[in-house]
Amino acid sequence: MAEAMAFVDLKAQYAALKVQIAERMQRVLDHGQYIMGPEVAELEVRLAANCGARHCITVASGTEAILIALMALSLKPGDEVITTPFTFAATAEMIVLLGGVPVFVDIEPDTCLIDTRLIESKISPRTRAILPVGLYGQCADMDEINAIAARHGGLAVIEDAAQSFGALYNGRRSCNLSLLACTSFFPSKPLGCYGDGGAVFTSDDALARACREIRVHGQSARYSHTRIGVGGRMDTLQCAIVLAKLERFEWELARREALAARYLNGLAQLAPRVVPISMRPGRTSAWAQMTVRSPQRDALAAHLRAQDIPTAVHYPLPLHHQPAYADLCAADEHPHSIAAGREVLSLPMSADLAEADLDRVLDALAFFSVP
Ligand SMILES: *Cc1c(COP(=O)(O)O)cnc(C)c1O
Repeated sequence: MAEAMAFVDLKAQYAALKVQIAERMQRVLDHGQYIMGPEVAELEVRLAANCGARHCITVASGTEAILIALMALSLKPGDEVITTPFTFAATAEMIVLLGGVPVFVDIEPDTCLIDTRLIESKISPRTRAILPVGLYGQCADMDEINAIAARHGGLAVIEDAAQSFGALYNGRRSCNLSLLACTSFFPSKPLGCYGDGGAVFTSDDALARACREIRVHGQSARYSHTRIGVGGRMDTLQCAIVLAKLERFEWELARREALAARYLNGLAQLAPRVVPISMRPGRTSAWAQMTVRSPQRDALAAHLRAQDIPTAVHYPLPLHHQPAYADLCAADEHPHSIAAGREVLSLPMSADLAEADLDRVLDALAFFSVP
C-alpha cells in the first residue's frame, strides 16, 4: 500500500536534502561553536538578502521574535497594540506578557486578514503599534497599514510573518514591508528548521542593535548588561539546517504556488459548499496552509478523514473566545473571526505533495454531500 498522505510532508523534504543537511550539521559538530557559531551570522546575511531587509536577527522561536520586537520598541504596561483575534495565540500573548493590551480588530471574511477599514476606530492615545498577521501565507494590506500608522504620529508596524516568509506584496517580500517583522522556523512553517527557531527583520539600525542586545540578556558587550533582555538565541545547528533548506526554498515556493493553482482550479466548481480563502491582486502567498471554508466544516473534515486525508483547523476559536483572552472584549465582537473559526479547514499542502494525492483530495471534496 502507498504511504499515507501527509498534511505537511517533511519526510520527503528531508530525503531531498539529506546530504546537504548532514554536511551542514557535521561542520557545526566539528567546529563546536554550538551557540552563536558562524552559521548564525551566515544565515542572518542570507535571510536579510532574501527578503531585502537591512538586518536579520535570528532568535529562539517565532514567539520570541515577537517578544523581542516589542521589547525593542520599549512597549510599556498599558500600551495598546492593534492586532487580529484570528491568529495563533503567540501574536497576542507576547503583548500581554509585557503588560501591554492587545486591541482586536476583526478580519475580512474572504481573506481572513485584518480589515484595515476597522483599524482607525481602535486607535487611542495609548496605541503604540499595529501587528498584522500574514495568515496562511498572504500578507495583510501592509501599504494601507503603514499609511494609517504614519497618519497617527508614526505608530510602529510589526508584521507577524510566521506564515508568510517568502510571500510577495506588490513586488516586495514579506519581512521587508514594515518597521519590524517576525518569522518562525517551526518545522512546518514555509521555511522550517528541525526544532524551534525564528527571526526579527528591520531596516532600522537602532532597532536592530536593540534586538541583538535583548537576544543575549541585554548585553551591549560581554557582561555589560545595558538593558533587560532574554535568553533568546537560535542555536547554531538549527541555523545550519535552515541554511541547507534555503538551497531549495525558491523551488519550494514555486512548487507550492503551482499546487495551489491546481487546488484553486479544482475548487472553483465546488462553491458555495467549499470556498478557498481569497487572494488579493499584487500578492502571492507562501502557502503555509491551503485553507478553505465550508459551512459544514466538521462534517467535511470527517468525510476526508474517512478517506485517510489529513486536515487541520487554523484556528477553531478566535482569541477572545479563549479563556486567557476573554476579558479583552465582549464575546460577540469580531463576528467574522468567530464565523471563520467555525468554517475554516486546511487541506494537505507542501512542496512535496504529489499531484495524484492533491487530485484525490479534490475528488473527495467533490463527492462531499451535505449531511
Ligand atoms: C507559528 C506562529 C507563531 C509562533 O511561532 P513559534 O516559532 O511557534 O513560536 C506566531 N504567529 C503565528 C501567526 C504563527 O503561525
